[in-house]
Amino acid sequence: MNAVLTAIGDELLSGVRLEKNANFMAWHLHNKGIEVKAIEVISDYEDEIINLLSRWIGKTDLLILSGGLGPTHDDKTRYAIAKYLGCELYSDSMYDKILSRVKDNPDRLARLEKSRSTQAMIPVKAQPVYNPTGSALGIKFTKDNTQVIALPGVPMEYEAMTRQELPEIFAQDNKHVWASIIILGLPEMTIAERIPEVINNHALHVSILPAFPQVELIIRGKPDDVDEAEKLTRSRFDDVLPKGCKSLAEAVLYEAKINHAKISCSESCTGGLVGAALTEIAGSSEVFNGSAVTYSNNAKHKILGVDGNIIANFGAVSKECAVSMAEGALRIYDSDYAVSITGIAGPDGGTESKPVGTVYFGLASREKACAFMKVLPGNRSEIRTRAVRFALAELWRTLHNKNLEPKL
Ligand code: ATP
Ligand code: MG
Repeated sequence: MNAVLTAIGDELLSGVRLEKNANFMAWHLHNKGIEVKAIEVISDYEDEIINLLSRWIGKTDLLILSGGLGPTHDDKTRYAIAKYLGCELYSDSMYDKILSRVKDNPDRLARLEKSRSTQAMIPVKAQPVYNPTGSALGIKFTKDNTQVIALPGVPMEYEAMTRQELPEIFAQDNKHVWASIIILGLPEMTIAERIPEVINNHALHVSILPAFPQVELIIRGKPDDVDEAEKLTRSRFDDVLPKGCKSLAEAVLYEAKINHAKISCSESCTGGLVGAALTEIAGSSEVFNGSAVTYSNNAKHKILGVDGNIIANFGAVSKECAVSMAEGALRIYDSDYAVSITGIAGPDGGTESKPVGTVYFGLASREKACAFMKVLPGNRSEIRTRAVRFALAELWRTLHNKNLEPKL
């Protein structure tokens, strides 16, 4: 079985919004072993939609359309389908079921009643699809052995309606599974060269997704094949995050838990992003004590106890300051390990000796402390994101190897 997924919307083509629906659906179809032949994004233009239907009907088993079913001028999908099928539209009584959900709210009821002339309209040669969360009905029909389902573009509605219409796709009996393996500190080519059996195995789909200092390998395929490939891959690398950890933050928390260690941080240029990454994961309170956002020199001094002389002599973006910030976090949060970040995220503030992107990281344990420096590429946002990854990566290595020795 195969499928084609399409998303309709000028905002998706112009880059104003990121396409989510085909992405969501492709993942689930893949897990069921259904090949997604194509994902297409087209504009809110009736002829484009008719063209799309003509191109794929008869050539794929399943064709899912997303978007263009609302009540506004740019919602053209229902008219395009009617034209393609060569039929009129009728007002389907299923719309009353949607209205009945808001019967106690006269304003909403009046608004939805006004949209009946668009949102309830279904081509005579097609059937309606109930919308359990929104108000526009979806449309389905089968032609030339292609099952066509047109759904609203709002991701929450799209998801609810695909689950309702295609329950077998969302059942737990996945034919295909996937494994995520995150390796630290090696370039993607080196990783690929070390696992030729996995890369060249045609039964597997392997994606190599670099985000230095980590590279994530996604291996997808039948359960036994994936299992074997994952074991082999893990055996070939040292700094590989534990099985089941899908992010650096998860791995840091996991490693802290098994070591019964408390962790903390102090952040300047990342403004709390490390703390945010850790606390996004449920259960982080078991090992994460806190992160101090100390942006000004005064805050670094008053909260973390960074000596005024350090800042005066070496600057706030320095090895000495990073060490002192990590020691300060360790002390104020009474933790076993701490990481600190202080850097120049830009666009201003760079100098010849410390250009934009210069970031110092401190690591502290109850025995010792150290620091390392990176010059990170990118704009302000990218520098901050990369700094978070380096901080978490080195904190993970420290916890994992019980050794404070930055390597990445
Ligand atoms: P309606 O949902 O009203 O039936 P529609 O399906 O075209 O009509 P729009 O009104 O165009 O939806 O879009 C509603 C919201 O859903 C917008 O914020 C839009 O950007 C978002 N949206 C639509 N399609 C997608 C998509 N494929 N991926 C992510 N967001 C989308
Ligand atoms: Mg739209």
